[in-house]
Amino acid sequence: MEKRKLAIVGSGPAAYTAAIYAARANLQPILFEGFMTGPAGGQLMTTTEVENYPGFPEGILGPELMNLFRAQAARFGTEILTEDVESVDLTKRPFSVNGSSRKVKAEALIIATGATAKRLEIPGAGDGEFWQKGVTACAVCDGAAPIFKNRPLFVIGGGDSAVEEAIFLTKYGSRVYIVHRRGELRASKIMAKRAMHHPKIEILWNTVIEKISGDQIVRKVLLKNLSDGRTEEREAGGVFFAIGHEPNTEFLKGQLDLNPTGYILVKSGSTRTSSEGVFAAGDVQDPTYRQAVTAAGSGCMAALDAERWLSEMEEE
Ligand code: NAP
Repeated sequence: MEKRKLAIVGSGPAAYTAAIYAARANLQPILFEGFMTGPAGGQLMTTTEVENYPGFPEGILGPELMNLFRAQAARFGTEILTEDVESVDLTKRPFSVNGSSRKVKAEALIIATGATAKRLEIPGAGDGEFWQKGVTACAVCDGAAPIFKNRPLFVIGGGDSAVEEAIFLTKYGSRVYIVHRRGELRASKIMAKRAMHHPKIEILWNTVIEKISGDQIVRKVLLKNLSDGRTEEREAGGVFFAIGHEPNTEFLKGQLDLNPTGYILVKSGSTRTSSEGVFAAGDVQDPTYRQAVTAAGSGCMAALDAERWLSEMEEE
């Protein structure tokens, strides 16, 4: 089987940055950027304007930013494969990395597979129902669509994401409701305050959406108050899930230590995982910051950690 010094799994700011650094360090990395697992480039591929990535004072579109990252990784000689990694074997070195068509043995491995927004199985929210016809898991990606304009919009969740998305949606909807299952927000104090004082936002406490209905697109939601059990149907133009993210670690099949919510555990101040020679970068190991710039930073760290580790191995 083909042997490589370094394989990188994933795409997005972390994976491409790791590739740029590794390629420049002559590690000749091979990068599996995914195919069926979602658009190569990760979550930024489904965003519009990115206004907080340093270096772009006028902002830049998410896909455009990722294309630049990718081109820079390719420029320094990264071999980029548009295919998924189906499994890995981390029990012995070199590690086996099994892509859907290419299989390689890698002395070191960087995992930067990101995270996916969680969805709820509410009747009406599924594929073939109103998913992507008014139901989405990314307000920032989809909020500007005409179907949401001047319509009542419902954001499910009580964390910082829910508040951030609700505030974002006030630009488009007639009114924005945060539907939260408890009587207290999980969001930080400052964000909670913003939501509670926003003239276009209302928080529906202790409430869940039981059903989403409509015709071609979402028209109504059935709300249930968990305190008194009462249900109420309301007009709706859109439902946005903001209930957190799921790290993409399924292909690891339990071979690395994860935290209780499934994020890869890394040694403090580094990208080293529980398996020597395996490094993790970006959202797959970061439940806290989850920003393009922090993901890129950790991608750089992973490449430097891998390079050091490989040279230590060579010296032994
Ligand atoms: P989060 O903090 O985990 O919050 C998820 C929310 O969804 C919680 O309020 C939770 O309810 C609710 N939820 C989870 N499962 C649910 C279910 N099955 N049904 C109904 N509701 C459900 O996730 P997040 O808001 O995405 O934030 C993740 C991290 O990113 C946090 O550390 C956050 O501070 C950070 N973040 C920061 C910013 C910012 O500072 N600008 C913006 C976005 C995210 P409970 O509260 O009842 O558990």
